[in-house]
Amino acid sequence: MLWSLLKILIFVALVAALALGAGYLMESGGPDLRIAFGPVEFTLGPLQAVIAALVLVVLVWLVLKLAGLVVAALKFLNGDETALTRYFHRNRERRGYDALAQGMLALASGEGRLAMSKAAKAERFLQRPELTNLISAQAAEMTGDRKKAEEIYKRLLNDDRTRFVGVRGLLKQKLEDGDTDTALRLAEKAFDLKPRHTEIHDTLLRLQAEKEDWAGARATLGAKLKNGSLPRDVYNRRDAVLALSKARNAVVVGNSDQAREGAIEANRLSPSLVPAAVMAARAYLDQGKPRQATRILKKAWSANPHPDLAAAFADIVPDETPSQRLKRFRALIRLTPDDPEARMLLAELEIANKDFPAARKALGDLVEDAPTARVLTLMAAIERGEGSDDAVVRAWLTKALSAPRGPQWICDNCQAVHANWAPVCDNCGSFDTLSWRTPLGDEASMPAATGMLPLIVGTPQTSTAAAGGMPETPSETPSETLPETTPEAPTETPAAAPQGIPSGSPDETPEPTPAEDEPPKVVEGEVVALGGGRET
Ligand SMILES: [Zn+2]
Repeated sequence: MLWSLLKILIFVALVAALALGAGYLMESGGPDLRIAFGPVEFTLGPLQAVIAALVLVVLVWLVLKLAGLVVAALKFLNGDETALTRYFHRNRERRGYDALAQGMLALASGEGRLAMSKAAKAERFLQRPELTNLISAQAAEMTGDRKKAEEIYKRLLNDDRTRFVGVRGLLKQKLEDGDTDTALRLAEKAFDLKPRHTEIHDTLLRLQAEKEDWAGARATLGAKLKNGSLPRDVYNRRDAVLALSKARNAVVVGNSDQAREGAIEANRLSPSLVPAAVMAARAYLDQGKPRQATRILKKAWSANPHPDLAAAFADIVPDETPSQRLKRFRALIRLTPDDPEARMLLAELEIANKDFPAARKALGDLVEDAPTARVLTLMAAIERGEGSDDAVVRAWLTKALSAPRGPQWICDNCQAVHANWAPVCDNCGSFDTLSWRTPLGDEASMPAATGMLPLIVGTPQTSTAAAGGMPETPSETPSETLPETTPEAPTETPAAAPQGIPSGSPDETPEPTPAEDEPPKVVEGEVVALGGGRET
């Protein structure tokens, strides 16, 4: 601000000085300048003298230029064949770089077509394709002329200096086209050319993971670590994910030895990675080593309490009684006594053991603080076990349907929810982005659907008010409409219950039948109105 003001002031002062000077010269009529060329004599007034000086400067410049040309011509005549071309070349070079600079400016200001024509002009003067092609390629991309861009990238491949740029440009195009096979080959080529390029590492790793080239991906990951662009702990987990993925492939092709080794290696690399711990524990169980299985499951659980770990822990002794199982699991639950997962696990074990008050105590304030579908379903099982009225059980199940689902495998990149863990996100193809957590905005899993529930299972009632006042309109057979959500009465299958831990009932929550209309209005047990306009 101050600087601009200063500049304006200086400019005004300069103009004023010039005007004053000119006026002074005009008016002063001081001593004239006399120049004599032999017999001829010029007499110049002050202003004419100034003009003559300017003309002289221009003349000297022209003479110097001409002298340069004459010298070049003489050199040429003396046998220096490039002297003349060099003289003119200097001129061409200047114009070429001017055009190049204009092309770069046009590129920076988003004028693709202008940049392309400037690049063509620069190429005419400079004959430096490695420079001008770069601008042309970017300009072609900018104007959406992909064919032209591809053509230029291919030209860039011919020069050692620009080969990487060409490969990278083509790689980007192939990725956009979804041609992952060619993209993978180009990424490998780019990796050969520049083994320390972080962006190429990531692209190559993603493509290799997508193509299930786990060995290649581990090599890329190693290069990334060596390059220092990856923290050690992230490297360890990703390496474990790759080892685990390889082990899972080995299962598919029936190579159980390789699968076992891979799973145990993955667990060693990252003990807190849930799927690796589960697979390694099962591998140890296959080898008849339950102590190792117990050890790694406890270690993984203390870092990351997850139902799959509990399910694998249950498999260590498959045929124990509910009370034996409860006793054995205490070692696991003791590691993270306040974690919701541990409390739900304890409640499930207590239900299987038919100790319903203990199950209720295990859940504690989870029912108020974090009422997930699973917690509410467990409450329904507890009520049923304690012999409460069907209406009370139904009320809990109704609540469970609209409750948040709790933690799930969610992609950190695109937030997609996955039923099972996978090394690569199904939705966005990112590698190692699934984490076990509660989805954002996990308030109600089926907001529109629950409106119909009073018709199906009866109006939701709290357990204290459930004894009377139930509308009789809906059918009396909740267990027929919602069979999957109802946990088997614990009295019937005490030993089997803990095996149901991993998937947990909430995952199988069925969609209630009609889902599109507004909630029905239930007045004194009578369904008065249904539908009447969709929700906006
Ligand atoms: Zn994703």
